[in-house]
Amino acid sequence: MPMDEKPSKNEDEYFAKQNLEIIHEMRVKLDAERRKAERKAHHNKCPRCGCDLKEHHAEQVRVDTCPECGGLWLDKGELEQLQRVNRARGVSGGVLGSLFRR
Ligand SMILES: [Zn+2]
Repeated sequence: MPMDEKPSKNEDEYFAKQNLEIIHEMRVKLDAERRKAERKAHHNKCPRCGCDLKEHHAEQVRVDTCPECGGLWLDKGELEQLQRVNRARGVSGGVLGSLFRR
């Protein structure tokens, strides 16, 4: 095709479609990078105030506590661990008891 000739409609559509695909791929890549960066930035941070969490031992259970707001965070399975400690001590009432009755 000579340089001064206008591209056909089919060519325009082809390049427009190709452009959209490239833009979509870039968007997907940028979204994935952003999610990864956000996860890294939030790792081991208090979900309430953003302060660094400190590991604290409650009985045999390691829980994450926030020195700033006093929040206490449990990983998956740690509530069940505390429940077992509670039961082993014969404690079924109080605040912890009401958590475990759910
Ligand atoms: Zn906090």
